[in-house]
Amino acid sequence: AALVRLQNVTKQYRTPNGTVTAVDAVDLDVEQGEILGVIGYSGAGKSTLVRLINALEKPTDGTVHVGNDELTALPERRVRAVRREIGMIFQQFNLFNSRTVAGNVAYPLKLAGVGQPERDQRVARLLDFVGLLEKAHSFPDQLSGGQKQRVGIARALATDPKLLLADEATSALDPETTADVLALLKRVNRELGITIVVITHEMDVIRTIADRVAVMDNGRIVELGSVYDVFSAP
Ligand code: ADP
Ligand code: ADP
Repeated sequence: AALVRLQNVTKQYRTPNGTVTAVDAVDLDVEQGEILGVIGYSGAGKSTLVRLINALEKPTDGTVHVGNDELTALPERRVRAVRREIGMIFQQFNLFNSRTVAGNVAYPLKLAGVGQPERDQRVARLLDFVGLLEKAHSFPDQLSGGQKQRVGIARALATDPKLLLADEATSALDPETTADVLALLKRVNRELGITIVVITHEMDVIRTIADRVAVMDNGRIVELGSVYDVFSAP
């Protein structure tokens, strides 16, 4: 079954130089339990696609479903509830440098109103899962890039999302660290059952982790299939 369904989705931006079509009549299902890679050059529309899925942008045309909810039809309060079911990780990690590792992971739980004892338990469990329990009281600038992204992953998982969106999440990391983070994302998928969409411009990332791949070019999905089929096509 599809966890995310985009139907005929177009997103246009008005700029001083005219209208830019960032996403152009895209149909795409993200299946429950899969790791879907989305690859394309800079400007292909990948980040816009992500922002449409987590309702940070509204489509100019078409519909976006997450689970049974059609995002454009929901009041803002319900949109925020859907967004809590979606975890995000980023190229630059987006951690709060003034908060400890534990504080970063606890933050979305605080926002969700989870009380102290349960919060502490969940933060400890998440840090254990990503292998950083001993860093709970460190600050982000005391960590390596790979460790920072593991904190980002723990924070993204804090509210028990169904879906994790990774936007160029390994693009700032060296190859060895990239492999570690991708292995962790694979565990997130296989052990926790979380559906993942990985946005990247790097073919190796898709090869390492994705079940299926969508190739974006100029706002369109020009190829969609298993990684094997798409990448070994002549
Ligand atoms: P990618 O993530 O693949 O690099 P983006 O989704 O960031 O692609 O961008 C797709 C196209 O939409 C590009 O031409 C970009 O310049 C344009 N674009 C993205 N966001 C905006 C915006 N907020 N305003 C105007 N144009 C935008
Ligand atoms: P901040 O000052 O940024 O809020 P803290 O280090 O005070 O960061 O911790 C914030 C939250 O993180 C605490 O309320 C608690 O829920 C959680 N926390 C702190 N230390 C730990 C720890 N060792 N294990 C699990 N959770 C912790």
